[in-house]
Amino acid sequence: MTKHIFVTGGVVSSLGKGLTAASLALLLQRRGYRVRMQKLDPYLNVDPGTMSPYQHGEVYVTIDGAETDLDLGHYERFTGTYCTKASNYTTGRIYSDVISREREGGYLGKTVQVIPHITDEIKKAIRSLDSDDVDIAITEIGGTAGDIESLPFLEAIRQYRQEIGRQNGLFVHITLVPYIKAAGEMKTKPSQQSVGILRTIGIIPDILICRCERHMKEDHREKLALFCNVDKNLVIEETDVAHSIYEVPVELAKQDVDVYVMEMLNLHVNPLKINDWKEMVDRLINPRNGEIEIAVVGKYISLKDSYKSIYESLTHGGIASDVKVNVRMLESEDIEKKGADTLLSGVHGILVPGGFGNRGIEGKIEAVRYAREKGIPFFGICLGMQCSVMEFARNVCGMKGANSTEFNDKTQYPVIDLMEDQKSVTKKGGTMRLGVYPCVLSEGSKALKAYCTADISERHRHRFEFNNSFRKQIEDKGMMLSGLSPDGKLVEIVELKNHPWFVACQFHPEFQSTPLKAHPLFRDFIAASLQRAAKRKSGKKGKVSSGNAVKSRGK
Ligand code: GLN
Repeated sequence: MTKHIFVTGGVVSSLGKGLTAASLALLLQRRGYRVRMQKLDPYLNVDPGTMSPYQHGEVYVTIDGAETDLDLGHYERFTGTYCTKASNYTTGRIYSDVISREREGGYLGKTVQVIPHITDEIKKAIRSLDSDDVDIAITEIGGTAGDIESLPFLEAIRQYRQEIGRQNGLFVHITLVPYIKAAGEMKTKPSQQSVGILRTIGIIPDILICRCERHMKEDHREKLALFCNVDKNLVIEETDVAHSIYEVPVELAKQDVDVYVMEMLNLHVNPLKINDWKEMVDRLINPRNGEIEIAVVGKYISLKDSYKSIYESLTHGGIASDVKVNVRMLESEDIEKKGADTLLSGVHGILVPGGFGNRGIEGKIEAVRYAREKGIPFFGICLGMQCSVMEFARNVCGMKGANSTEFNDKTQYPVIDLMEDQKSVTKKGGTMRLGVYPCVLSEGSKALKAYCTADISERHRHRFEFNNSFRKQIEDKGMMLSGLSPDGKLVEIVELKNHPWFVACQFHPEFQSTPLKAHPLFRDFIAASLQRAAKRKSGKKGKVSSGNAVKSRGK
């Protein structure tokens, strides 16, 4: 039988509930249990696919093509398991399923109500994780206790635990214990009140995880235990980590939170095996090859969450090369205003990520030109790949004004065009080319060198594609079409032959990278950027560049 853990949040949002849930999942997994994760989001959009990154941050794409919350990225990166459509439900999705059933006469004339019909649908979503190959399912409830829109979800998890019993279900509440500077004290009252709110709905947390800037004192724990009805050893402290989010599981393990979970769920306490994780964290914190700087040129740069998986994947590439990766985050519009020379000078690698819409597009194309002409390692992803094709067509193939029809449908050179099967699509949500598709890599390509296998599969989220009418002209000028769909019709990767490392892909490799196993393209992009940094350093010292400039840990 699958056991369930329900994770709720209190006091404020942005406590890192997703990270904590993912960390707990990792620990349980490393105790020998098979874990599956899920996020329930109390907003009315059916999924975040149509939301602005400013509203929601990155849209994370699962292998089966669901457009989901970015917390699923943490789940996959920490546990190395895959999420699916069943891993993210919103209020919108739940209601839309209930309303469709009502329209089909599925409720046999009954009055359809929040309780029991919406809560039943939520319970069905939770139950969809039950399976013979899942020991523990962790469900995170988005939002904060006390939000009006969270109520049906909280009621549903209350009922669920009641139905499965205490030994099969646990409530973990993540809350804030703020430090009030003026008083010079940490305050437990907000957490007490948050637990009070949960109690009014019939939920008493089994474990309280307290996010705090400083360490809690014994009397804080005692107070929280007493007023929140939680055992003192189940008041867990989660202070801000010094260097990296990947330290969180290691810190939680020190307080045996996973042991308490197993005991309460009546599961055998197997030994914890996380040495590889600890080594990875150590490598991340103490890199032996110094630092490099990578420019990420995007449109939603001011919100860090917009490119969450990209930044994480760069870090993973850094772990693989034993180097700290600093990111220079650049708004592409600023490149239009101030020029590539001013803003990109000195970087060791340039990445143009995915995106939609016209704003800032010329700045991205300019960043590609800069990388191509100066021989700076370049990585283009989705829109970034399309920009690299536009740039090459314009500045190398002489196709003046070459563009994507997403931005100019009158261009004489539509080198990027709407995909054939997208032409009849009128509705927005979930209608792009989504999820995993296969791709075949060409002999002699940097892509093949990275993956070490010709047959790969990667996640997609796009409507436009490389226009095959321009294949010959573009290939003749030296752009290699190094990854194609198995039928040869769709260009998935382009790269430049006479360049240290210039690879751009139509898919999103950032969704398949983990700290323990950097995605091959991110790994090689960072390795190439590190080579550039090493060469420049030795060049500056007046030395001939040596291939040994980069220390290796013998991988
Ligand atoms: N806007 C482009 C398309 O739809 C690129 C999408 C993306 O970068 N995810 O094809």
